[in-house]
Amino acid sequence: MPHGIATRNDVVTLRRAGRHATGADPRPCMMARPWQWGMGRAGLVLSREAPSLAAVADLASRLGEAESALLRVITALARLEPVSAEVVALATVRVRREPPCIALGELPVHADAVGMRFAAVVDLLSEEGLLAPSSYRALRARTPDVAVLVRRWTAAAPARDGRDALALRIAGVAMRPLLRHLSLSLEPPDAPPCSASGRCPYCNGEPDFATVGRNARILYCARCDAAWRAPRGGCAFCRESRLDRLAFRRTGEPPYGLEVCATCRHYLKSVDVPVSGYLAIERALSAPLDSGARAAGLVG
Ligand SMILES: [Zn+2]
Ligand SMILES: [Zn+2]
Repeated sequence: MPHGIATRNDVVTLRRAGRHATGADPRPCMMARPWQWGMGRAGLVLSREAPSLAAVADLASRLGEAESALLRVITALARLEPVSAEVVALATVRVRREPPCIALGELPVHADAVGMRFAAVVDLLSEEGLLAPSSYRALRARTPDVAVLVRRWTAAAPARDGRDALALRIAGVAMRPLLRHLSLSLEPPDAPPCSASGRCPYCNGEPDFATVGRNARILYCARCDAAWRAPRGGCAFCRESRLDRLAFRRTGEPPYGLEVCATCRHYLKSVDVPVSGYLAIERALSAPLDSGARAAGLVG
C-alpha cells in the first residue's frame, strides 16, 4: 500500500482495514477491544516500507541541507534488504511463542551480506557529509571484521571509544534488515499486537517513535521497526503514571513532540498528525529533536 507524501497540514491516517482477528495473534490482547481497531479509533499505523525515491527527493527539496541529508540517509536505511540466502536461513530461526519472540543470538550472520550492508551504510554516511574522512577510512577498514562486530552488538558489549560505538551501531543497522524481515512477518495481518511491557514483543528492543491516537498509541521498535499497541498514558519505558513526573514538549518544528519521563529520564518522539504515512520519513523529520533531548541529558 504505497502512500503519498502529505503536506504538513494534511491528516494522513493509515488504517489497516478489517476487524482485529484475535485468532491471528497467539499472544492475548488485554488492553484494547477488537472493534476499536475496526472502527479505526485506535489505529494509526505507519508503513515500515521504504518510501519511493521520488517522494523522498520531493520532500528533501523543501528541507534545509542538514535535514534533507538526514532524510536521505534514514529512508535509504529502510531500503536495505536481506539477500535470499539470509531469508532462507531466517526460516530456521526458532521463534518463541512468548515475547520476546526472537533471540538476537539466533539470527544467521552471513558475513559477506552483512559486510556489504555495513560498507554501504558507511559509504552513505560519508557521501552525505556525516562522517569525517578519517572516520570513514577507519570504519571502512572494519568491514572484514563485521561478524565480530555483530557478535559484540548482539551481546550489547561495551564500546572501546566513540568510533567503536559507531561501528557497533552500524553493525546493528546492517543486521536490521534481517530482524525487521522476521518481526514484520510475525506481525498479525490486521493490527499490531498489544504489549504493556514497553519493549518490542519480537526483539525486546526499545521504542523510538510513537503515533498517538485518541485511545491508544502505537510504539515502533528502534531495532526492528515492529509496531505494537501500548496503553495511551504513562511512560512507555518505566510505566510511570504520576502526571507530575511526565511532560510533553513540543520543541522545534511541529507536528512532532517529546514525551519525557522525569523518573527514568527517557524520551520518546511522538506524532498525532504525521506528515507522511512512512515511519522512515517521520523518524527523519523528527530527528532534530533527538539532539536537543540528548543535550538535555535524556536517554532515547
Ligand atoms: Zn523489535
Ligand atoms: Zn519512565
